[in-house]
Amino acid sequence: MKERKEVKMNFESGELFDAANRDDRDKRKSGIIPPVAQQLHRENIQRIVQEALSASSISPSDLSAIATTIKPGLALSLGVGLSFSLQLVGQLKKPFIPIHHMEAHALTIRLTNKVEFPFLVLLISGGHCLLALVQGVSDFLLLGKSLDIAPGDMLDKVARRLFLVKHPECSTMSGGKAIEHLAKQGNRFHFDITPPLQRAKNCIEQGQILSSAADIAAAVQHITACHIVKRTHRAILFCKQRDLLPQNNAVLVASGGVASNFYIRRALEIVTNATQCTLLCPPPRLCTDNGIMIAWNGIERLRAGMGILHDIEDIRYEPKCPLGVDISKEVE
Ligand code: ATP
Ligand code: FE
Repeated sequence: MKERKEVKMNFESGELFDAANRDDRDKRKSGIIPPVAQQLHRENIQRIVQEALSASSISPSDLSAIATTIKPGLALSLGVGLSFSLQLVGQLKKPFIPIHHMEAHALTIRLTNKVEFPFLVLLISGGHCLLALVQGVSDFLLLGKSLDIAPGDMLDKVARRLFLVKHPECSTMSGGKAIEHLAKQGNRFHFDITPPLQRAKNCIEQGQILSSAADIAAAVQHITACHIVKRTHRAILFCKQRDLLPQNNAVLVASGGVASNFYIRRALEIVTNATQCTLLCPPPRLCTDNGIMIAWNGIERLRAGMGILHDIEDIRYEPKCPLGVDISKEVE
């Protein structure tokens, strides 16, 4: 049988690549490779901690406690952070505060704004898409979550397929940020892309578009915003109908890397305005992963007198760990 050679187009450079060639295939796939991430964590963790302490003019003995993410996430990366922290805890004789990564994303807003409980939170990131009612520091009601792929992961995949890492204007940006950047130059009506995103994949792969990466970015960003906004609207109405949020000053917080996107923020604002809610988002650099949010979550837990461990013998990281009590069946 004659072998079919699959040659595809890089829509930015116009360069052709061979889909069967391993090097070219890897360029298209890339993304996080767990053992590589683990190695990079190992190589950098000590230096980063030292730099953070000296930049804040704090000596290790000044610390009240050590807060570290133990769930959920990539096992190999969580393991490096946990064993490094436990070593430090042993040396310094400090209490240890285990952190849930998504709780930290949700509470970041209380560092930057004055927000009381309860509030509604929309967490949109690389690995999650969820709506939850935050009733206290560690008291979450999970209203709904993504059934398949998280929006950040999807935007990263689209960016990878469009080879945006080679684009002169966005080579250093994350996939989602590159999509936001290019979308400003694109026409969201040019391609009729609707969820599920199979059609976006087809548009890219069939080579109909050549230099239309910006139009695809605009269309994909738009449908992402529409989908998120519809679900959020439903959650606001659910909470208001059941008096789970204050009738007068209900707050919707959006956080996680994708919440740095201003197109999505504007779309959310339309819904919060229509439902007499206030939309609050941390500044973009605190929406994506950062150490400040983990430290802040530690402070919140310390103040609330919860989750502080002196006996660390049995502490384990948990790659999978849902946030809060799941009541999503009631929301449907
Ligand atoms: P999780 O928090 O779910 O475990 P994560 O920690 O990998 O996943 P974050 O660091 O919160 O995710 O967010 C990273 C994601 O945010 C990436 O997928 C990235 O493409 C996306 N992102 C960053 N900036 C933007 C932006 N301006 N617009 C859209 N997406 C963005
Ligand atoms: Fe995150």
